[in-house]
Amino acid sequence: MRREPDYLIYSMEQNDNWQYCTCEACQALAEKYGGQSGIMVWFVNQVADAVKDEFPDKFVGTFAYQYTRHAPKNIVPRENVVIRLCSIECCMLHDYDDCEQNKPFLQDLKDWSAIAPHLYIWDYVTDFRLYCLPTANWNTLQTHLQDYVNNNAIGILEEGDYQTVSCEFREMRSWLLSKLMWDCNADVKSLIQDFTDGYYGAAAPYIREYLELEERILLREGMHTLCYADVWHEMYSDEFITEGRRIMGEAKAAVANNPDLLKRVEKEELPLCLLQMVRMPQEGIKNGADTLFQKIVRQEGINKMTEWRHEKNADDYIQSFQQMAREAKEEQSTK
Ligand SMILES: [Zn+2]
Ligand SMILES: [Zn+2]
Repeated sequence: MRREPDYLIYSMEQNDNWQYCTCEACQALAEKYGGQSGIMVWFVNQVADAVKDEFPDKFVGTFAYQYTRHAPKNIVPRENVVIRLCSIECCMLHDYDDCEQNKPFLQDLKDWSAIAPHLYIWDYVTDFRLYCLPTANWNTLQTHLQDYVNNNAIGILEEGDYQTVSCEFREMRSWLLSKLMWDCNADVKSLIQDFTDGYYGAAAPYIREYLELEERILLREGMHTLCYADVWHEMYSDEFITEGRRIMGEAKAAVANNPDLLKRVEKEELPLCLLQMVRMPQEGIKNGADTLFQKIVRQEGINKMTEWRHEKNADDYIQSFQQMAREAKEEQSTK
């Protein structure tokens, strides 16, 4: 804090994994303070006490994340401590009070809200395993924010495709989130109308038709998704892929004479091309999903497509699609 005085919050956080200390002394502390978060608060409070006289305007931050997500008992964070509650285990498709996956998180939010003097949120708004995958969280971006605000959260990080530019509707997603962070009760439908009209021009009605398709199919009964679905998630039905590409075809036709708008629309076909090539490769090759995927990737300068170390990136997909196309051609010539 002496060396880098320009910051407001100085974080002392757990590692990004589930390996907490299991020694006897820590187990005793966890027992006393209601779990692992109790140890973190006990520790961070001591740091907060040590710096408060010299740095009365600064804060010490820590996570409520993974094994520290539940609020502690018999201990509360000091006045100069910031708690950042992380929503990584949540279903992105449903409200926090309307999904079994989310109810425990809502309880944690309420529990932290009752004891944290300054509550921040670290929220996840896209698919980190494959950034471009369609994520139909257009309504919950709002309802989740409303829950944070209603539970006294005063700061938020909305984590998106920070490593790339390949997130689905990244421009609209960022814009919508910015608007909702100013006013979490704004009308999402009219914001989307405003953005699509302004950004996609004559293709806007088709983009909205595609968003309705997402709502109808990806949000159908029984679907849930965390922020790391893969291409085999059951919400991505064949109908979604085929119908999505049909609508995108009409969207492109509507702006065919405007290269800038066409590029914006075309980019949103990337996930559909990928889904079709992986899940329905014969149709994909017949409909040119492989070559369109490659064209969009080059056009947008995309390589990284995932946060995960062992998942494929754009060049890996291109190579495997080229291989598939060669094999299909050979098969045809032997027939
Ligand atoms: Zn220990
Ligand atoms: Zn759900």
